[in-house]
Amino acid sequence: MSGATVSCARCGRGEAPALARAPMPGPLGAEIRARVCSDCWEEWRRVEVMAINELRLNFMDPSAQDILAAEIRRFLGLDGAPGAEPEKSPDPR
Ligand SMILES: [Zn+2]
Repeated sequence: MSGATVSCARCGRGEAPALARAPMPGPLGAEIRARVCSDCWEEWRRVEVMAINELRLNFMDPSAQDILAAEIRRFLGLDGAPGAEPEKSPDPR
């Protein structure tokens, strides 16, 4: 019970329960912790295996991490367009 809250990018709640720690290493983990509530992360955890199967990710392939990261961002609404079609908007990176 930390009592920390976040304004969640996915469910839109302004004071949603925050994750106690970053759920994965690296900048994406930090961003998720800062912008996504623990409930929405739990939701992702429930669909993660299905998503990995559906995307046929092979983690021997380094690009699989990027594909999964993009799917996580899309699912959690981190790119600012919840429910948007993937791979449509030009990405300025
Ligand atoms: Zn949420």
